[in-house]
Amino acid sequence: MPDNLIRMAVILADGVGHDVLPIATEVIQAAAGACGVEVEPAIYGYGAQRYLEEGSSLPEDVPGLVQDLASKHDAILFGSAGLDPRVPKDVNCRPLLHELRHGLDLFVNFRPAPLLARRFSPLLADVPVDLVVMRENTEGKVSSRGEIFKEGTPDEVTVYDDINTYKGVERICRYSFEYARSHGCPKVSMADKSGGIGIWYRVFWEVAEKYPDVEAEHIFIDTLCGNLLLRPDNYSVIVTNNIFGDILSDLCAGLVGGMGMAASGCIHPGKVCMFEPVHGTAPDICFQDKANPFAVVLTGRILLDTLGHQKAADLIWEAVRLAVKEDKVTGDLGGKLGTRAVGDYLVETVCKLAKEGNV
Ligand code: NAD
Ligand code: MN
Repeated sequence: MPDNLIRMAVILADGVGHDVLPIATEVIQAAAGACGVEVEPAIYGYGAQRYLEEGSSLPEDVPGLVQDLASKHDAILFGSAGLDPRVPKDVNCRPLLHELRHGLDLFVNFRPAPLLARRFSPLLADVPVDLVVMRENTEGKVSSRGEIFKEGTPDEVTVYDDINTYKGVERICRYSFEYARSHGCPKVSMADKSGGIGIWYRVFWEVAEKYPDVEAEHIFIDTLCGNLLLRPDNYSVIVTNNIFGDILSDLCAGLVGGMGMAASGCIHPGKVCMFEPVHGTAPDICFQDKANPFAVVLTGRILLDTLGHQKAADLIWEAVRLAVKEDKVTGDLGGKLGTRAVGDYLVETVCKLAKEGNV
């Protein structure tokens, strides 16, 4: 990849992605452009849009599609997969989302939750929140691997595999400590429900020993949920399995303003990565100019940062901070602006900040 070109796949997917992805694309282009980097977006309508136009949401060969996307692009920006009010309930992009995570082996789901303004916090205590959830993204309870016996009878039994490999646990723990070390985070907390036994507990401490400069702790997942509501400032980087990480990242989003704030990156260092908001398709508010674009715009910040364009990433961060400071925000954050107006403000602000040499 040449340093000054990003070939970016933009997969609108279902529901709210159609509101927020075009905006994020403009903001990413403005920020990168101000730093001499050209972004070449390719927009794909997989999901509800394709269903409306062609009668099916995805091509048959989804693994082939994912490999093709990865070979043609440097990064993939994805919306959300799920309910879209325009199409029947069972039509969605979910197989594509799962294949992107699994087929590209994007084992880190990096989900930061920084509190940008006191007014966004639901807590009584005035404490800073700057959390990062590192969710293992390729193992754990993989719902497609399981079996149902005696289906539809009172004796029905369902069994789903909970897969945890040494390789899988070791690499996400190592990534978390590396991240903590390079970003000055004081502590890595590993959350599970193991009671001091099992592969997560053993491998976490094995990795922790190699990072004596970073504090390490094990905490029960239920205890952590309670503690996060009382003293979120006691935590920094949290590493955990797929399902706990999914749940925790919504809890952390709630601590910093809700789903409209929560960005994420599905990362495997050195590979083509995929970037998506934490939120779903928001069927209750999509196509109404109500959705908060910050989650996907901040996802764009992670994208640029991951590709090594730190200065462009910082421009996005500063623009969002200014928007919050000046209350140029959507209704979920107590503001009066629509999605489009917030997007316009962000593009303008990125350009202004770059011109003033502020970042
Ligand atoms: P959701 O995240 O779509 O919505 C939860 C709440 O957050 C809703 O009130 C919604 O309006 C609000 N919200 C979400 N994004 C917002 C934004 N950008 N700005 C303002 N408010 C926002 O979760 P849900 O309602 O449980 O699920 C809806 C659909 O999305 C389901 O089909 C579900 O399976 C799917 N889903 C997909 C993903 C994903 O693709 N990664 C994640 C979660 C849910
Ligand atoms: Mn989730």
